[in-house]
Amino acid sequence: MKLRVRGIATDEADQIRRGGPDANGQPAVLRVAEGLANPCRHCLGLIAEGDRKLVLAYRPFDAVQPYAETGPIFLHEDPCERYESESLPAWFDYLDPAIVRGYAEDHWIRYDTGDVVPGTELTAACRTILGDPTIAYVHIRSKYNCFQCRVDRD
Ligand SMILES: [Zn+2]
Repeated sequence: MKLRVRGIATDEADQIRRGGPDANGQPAVLRVAEGLANPCRHCLGLIAEGDRKLVLAYRPFDAVQPYAETGPIFLHEDPCERYESESLPAWFDYLDPAIVRGYAEDHWIRYDTGDVVPGTELTAACRTILGDPTIAYVHIRSKYNCFQCRVDRD
């Protein structure tokens, strides 16, 4: 099975960069990236230490509903290219561990699919979960429950 891995939509990232409201109705906060763990959720690249990043509340669902969790994410301050690939970014191997879980068509969590795995096992976990035709898509999150990206069947 081919996977489709994408960063958040470009129009969402652009809207935030123009000062638009985040999921909490507030503009993003500008900070300088410290350390190595500053993934941009649009290009799914790591924001270099010392570069400026936008910090915002993000809800990776189109509509508000009980399972539509909102949490903090980062974006490059400057425009970047949306990640679109058949494979996860190589640095995801260093997510240790990562949270992975499937969602049904109604965007509710399918608890039977949830797992906590080393980053190196994420691709296999996504394939297993998406092998169930009743699963619509997968979310990958860090061990802190921060949303990383969505994975679909290609
Ligand atoms: Zn970026």
